[in-house]
Amino acid sequence: MSDRSVTVMWFRRDLRVDDHPALAHAAARGDVVALWVADPALLAMTHHRAPVRLRFLRACLEALDAELRGRGIPLVVRAGEPAAVVPEVVHEARADAVCVTGDVTPYSRRRDAAVSRALAADGVTMQAVGGPWRVAPEDLAGSSGRGYLVFTPFWRAWEQVPLAQRIAPPPALSGPSLASDGLDALPGGAPPLVAGPEAARARLEQFIRSGAADRYPDDRDLPAVDGTSHLSADLRMGVLSPSQVGRAIAGSRGMDAAREGFWRQLAWRDFYAHHMARYPDVASRALKPAYRGITWDDDDDLFAAWCEGRTGFPLCDAGMRQMRATGWMHNRARMVAASVLVKDLLIDWRWGEAEFMRHLVDGDPANNNGGWQWTAGTGTDAAPYFRVFNPVLQAKRFDPTGAYVREWVPELRSVPDRFIHEPWKMDAEAQDEAGCVMGRDYPVPVVDHSVRRHEAIARYKDADARHAAMTGGAA
Ligand SMILES: Cc1cc2nc3c(=O)[nH]c(=O)nc-3n(C[C@H](O)[C@H](O)[C@H](O)COP(=O)(O)OP(=O)(O)OC[C@H]3O[C@@H](n4cnc5c(N)ncnc54)[C@H](O)[C@@H]3O)c2cc1C
Repeated sequence: MSDRSVTVMWFRRDLRVDDHPALAHAAARGDVVALWVADPALLAMTHHRAPVRLRFLRACLEALDAELRGRGIPLVVRAGEPAAVVPEVVHEARADAVCVTGDVTPYSRRRDAAVSRALAADGVTMQAVGGPWRVAPEDLAGSSGRGYLVFTPFWRAWEQVPLAQRIAPPPALSGPSLASDGLDALPGGAPPLVAGPEAARARLEQFIRSGAADRYPDDRDLPAVDGTSHLSADLRMGVLSPSQVGRAIAGSRGMDAAREGFWRQLAWRDFYAHHMARYPDVASRALKPAYRGITWDDDDDLFAAWCEGRTGFPLCDAGMRQMRATGWMHNRARMVAASVLVKDLLIDWRWGEAEFMRHLVDGDPANNNGGWQWTAGTGTDAAPYFRVFNPVLQAKRFDPTGAYVREWVPELRSVPDRFIHEPWKMDAEAQDEAGCVMGRDYPVPVVDHSVRRHEAIARYKDADARHAAMTGGAA
């Protein structure tokens, strides 16, 4: 029997071998068992039951298995509660350590604490090396020591942190062979986009080579233009590390202003991950205490109309239908759809957050929560609550020809440009000509934006006042 140390490398959302600090650490110790655990509790959580994302996850795990096998070891899959499964695998492999990439969600922290406790009983430690971020929260503590609540100072500090050098994948891996349960706990079928490191690298290269990275500041807000990287699902599963993206974007010439605009979006990703790490409560309630007490209507029929893309606000409906059809939604449409749910339909942002998690291939607890709380004005948005998105003006500005709306809301395909974002303004003759009779082929808006805007502002104001009365004015 070999007297080399054996480390169990437990993969979670770091499904790659390149630029992988934890795997490099494990390989440097000696033999490695690569493990993925199908955790029934995690897979059953509302936030994780998204067939589209689970199909992508399965394809990413298959690609990881192929990468590992190419280096000498397979991916061992075990189904069960991690606090039982990980120690079992440690025992079978006669391992003396477990290595992971850290995570930030409340569930992952509870899970990891339970696994660490179970391992400690056998005298084995679990070490977290690196995390899903580019810069770790402890390296950006800010002057207060508690991190940043405002993005701009966070970005200034974040961009000063130099890009890490690439960590090359271990050329060869060896370890004991263990039985594997296979991936049947995950749904099969074609994922919405090709999975695996080659596909992710190809998306990144295409984004750079096509010139999209250089046009990013001009195009990123236009949902009809394919102007963004589509790397969110790869980053979500850790098929690519943010540093790999940064090195490719900087290339040999460094970050110019256009590419820095893109790099800034990766900083938002870290910003929200740091929030979840520091304030785990954001996963279930508003970051700003005052807005934990907003009175919502939570109308089931309005929620169903929103989910199905039948609100009568064309840009919002186009976004929701794009998400259901493809598992991805353009960022501008995400913001408008989220704003319509919260500020027009007066529905709790957490309902929308869960609906996005059920359908997005890139559904990420920290990014999604951050995006929702930003739009709802309950989180880090620096704009005051009375600045409410107008879904028609947003549509006219960011989808000026209506190309995006026409693609995803076919009932409106023949509506003339001037009515495309306000089809209810067509007279009967124009409706006939466009083949779109309002109320029959496409709904009139389910609420009146100008009325609901005032109502939303009143509710936020009221929550503010009640909170101030309770706390004597403290924020
Ligand atoms: C309500 C709402 C919900 C969202 N939910 C998610 C989610 O579940 N998962 C997710 O990855 N992003 C989420 N976003 C952020 C953003 O919409 C997506 O990251 C982006 O649309 C993904 O497409 P892309 O990869 O082409 O982005 P690009 O524009 O090419 O950006 C590159 C990368 O930067 C990161 N990024 C970009 N914008 C943001 C942002 N505003 N916040 C955090 N990270 C960002 C992503 O990792 C993205 O892949 C949400 C935004 C909103 C407003």
